[in-house]
Amino acid sequence: MKKIIDISLSISAALPVWPGDPPVWIERTSKMEEGGSANVTALRFGAHTGTHMDAPYHFLENGRTIDEIALEELIGLVQVLEIDAGVDLITAPVLDSLKIDPAVDKILFKTRNSILWSQKNSTFFEDYVAIDESAAHLLVNMGFHLVGIDYLSVAPYGDQTPVHRILLGSNVILLEGLNLADVQPGLYTLLCLPLKLAGSDGAPARAALLVD
Ligand SMILES: [Zn+2]
Repeated sequence: MKKIIDISLSISAALPVWPGDPPVWIERTSKMEEGGSANVTALRFGAHTGTHMDAPYHFLENGRTIDEIALEELIGLVQVLEIDAGVDLITAPVLDSLKIDPAVDKILFKTRNSILWSQKNSTFFEDYVAIDESAAHLLVNMGFHLVGIDYLSVAPYGDQTPVHRILLGSNVILLEGLNLADVQPGLYTLLCLPLKLAGSDGAPARAALLVD
């Protein structure tokens, strides 16, 4: 069996959520220790909680919803690129400086953001590393179909619309909230399985890398 690296966050009330999004609420509504015949948990949280996918419908009124994205688009060869810890914004020149394998159409950015997850801080961090508009255009031109990053959004805090619209508008699926702390840069097989929520703009996902 190949080695599998889990790159998903654990969903709990301690997880930071995007400012204004619903908080994570997880409660057992039937408890065996209180005489219930089984433990049963009820959930309430936003579709963009923890490790999750953005469907085009997130920023485009007529975009595809999460249940319309085929698994073929979410499973396959992926490159993890490490961004130098001194980089605060992934721009087109930053992208140009990276060695990107021409065979890949899925890419994950490992930045200093991943350290935040190991600190287990439940405070939302505004100064996360994100992708700017120049890099978003370049990623589209390079033919990528899936772009992932290790914080809760691909776009800089306070300026969400342009980068999301550039990428989602070209049917680039976004994978956000990854924990890449234990991942070396290189080529892997991505397994990404978002919940099949009918008509949704996104969904929490279990994501893993298969080591060849
Ligand atoms: Zn999202």
